[in-house]
Amino acid sequence: MQKEVAVQELYIGGELSRPVRAEYNDVLNPSNAEVIARVPRASTEDAKKAIDAAREAFDKGPWSKMSPADRSKIIWKIADLVEQDVDRLAMLETENQGKPFKLSKDSDFAFGIDNIRFFASAVRNLEGKAAGEYNGIGTSIIRREPIGVVACITPWNYPWMMVVWKAIPAIAAGNTVVIKPASVTPLTTLEFAKLMERSGLPKGVVNVVTGDGSVVGEALVRSSGVDVVGLTGDTATGKKIMEAASGTVKRVQLELGGKAPFIVFDDADLDAASEGAVVGGFVNSGQDCTAATRLYVHESVYDSFIQKLVQKVRRIIVGDPKSKETDNGPLVSSAQLNKVENMVRIGKEEDGAKLLLGGRKPPNLEAPFSRGYFYEPTLFADCTQDMRIVQQEIFGPVLAILPFSTPEEAIEKANDVVYGLASSVWTKDVYKAMKVSAALRFGEVWVNDHLPLVSEMPHGGYKQSGFGKDLSGYTFDDYTDVKHVYFDLTGAVRKGWHYTIYGQQP
Ligand code: NDP
Repeated sequence: MQKEVAVQELYIGGELSRPVRAEYNDVLNPSNAEVIARVPRASTEDAKKAIDAAREAFDKGPWSKMSPADRSKIIWKIADLVEQDVDRLAMLETENQGKPFKLSKDSDFAFGIDNIRFFASAVRNLEGKAAGEYNGIGTSIIRREPIGVVACITPWNYPWMMVVWKAIPAIAAGNTVVIKPASVTPLTTLEFAKLMERSGLPKGVVNVVTGDGSVVGEALVRSSGVDVVGLTGDTATGKKIMEAASGTVKRVQLELGGKAPFIVFDDADLDAASEGAVVGGFVNSGQDCTAATRLYVHESVYDSFIQKLVQKVRRIIVGDPKSKETDNGPLVSSAQLNKVENMVRIGKEEDGAKLLLGGRKPPNLEAPFSRGYFYEPTLFADCTQDMRIVQQEIFGPVLAILPFSTPEEAIEKANDVVYGLASSVWTKDVYKAMKVSAALRFGEVWVNDHLPLVSEMPHGGYKQSGFGKDLSGYTFDDYTDVKHVYFDLTGAVRKGWHYTIYGQQP
């Protein structure tokens, strides 16, 4: 018999809203496969209701016309409300996504709260060209305007933080949003919407529809009522969204897959590099688009690096994500576990890589965790560039290690994937670090670290990792239109240039 669980509703026009059809999806706790909530499997009719609410709030409501200072005040309040409720929200994220509570609270929520405050402040300081008399007879000014309704389609690896990265800059700039969270991790998004309401946000500025990406997500992307789509997700999903968005020529902002290279030169501090590979590679059980998944290690330090790495990886604690000691929780779903298991099988059987560690579910987890989607931290060594485990995103705790002999070879191999999101370089030689970071075709390069992001700096991809930026002032380029307004200064009936179109030169 199924346990009683909370039944959630959609959030449309500032109200909790039953779906048009009474269809619901179970939401699981991935650490024990128990159902923890039921959320609406919304239909295209529900998507339309949410779009209409966002449209009306944008076209007729006060939000887009409010001063940046007044919007900022409300958005600061949102950050304060999250902060006051952070233990509950971070624990809900842990229960739904499976990430360790320390990662949820002290990383995702701590950073996300700072992101919200940054966006609230930065929107008061948007930049553009100075007003001026560029042709001598008129004054040109730039207006930065909200675009309209933004659909924010978010993934399951950082469910709440990705809503912050997409929806908060969008609303800070005066847009209204419809958020579609990933089907397996909708819970903190729904809580966030209810909490935002208490900040004084006008009704309809934020709406949430849950349900299948191929139904509700696609309805948002195809709708003429939506002006912009922001997605964090798979590259394949990004391609589908670009295609579907072309029907209405709407803007898309895409943060897609990654396969980050991690380059260790012979002069690197190997203790620091091996530590960096553990945190960079196994963060969030490897379910991170910036995760350090391809470790290129100079041949002269290859063995000693691996020795240090193996020792550290053996100490990763996999288990109950609510426990303070746990480093890695489960993977988010049985589908993701199957994907990881299949890629590891390919690594062993088809690629012929050398399995050093892991490659299985942890054998001695006790109930209820024995029913969870846990996977051991896994290392493959002696990999080659053409292997599928080197080329394809696995999105699990699986790292591939490859030797290299020259900086040119390291750069060429690092760049030789379809992705271009994040990368890192480990060396004490500042000249080498500068040269290599310029040559890497990735939107982010870390030197002697892997993962740090800050609110003030952009995060986004090159190549098939997408385009547009999350975080920083650059993100407002995705959520504002730039308008040129021109004022004639002459007051003349006939301007000097009119003859080029009509009549003769005076
Ligand atoms: P998706 O790209 O399918 O999911 C991301 C979001 O897009 C979800 O909200 C999803 O909804 C939605 N979506 C899916 N299809 C469509 C569509 N046709 N139109 C509009 N929205 C859509 O990722 P998956 O969950 O399937 O994960 C697959 C792989 O993607 C992972 O194994 C990983 O490799 C990669 N990934 C990368 C992420 C990143 O941060 N770059 C994040 C997540 C995954 P729904 O959940 O209902 O399907």
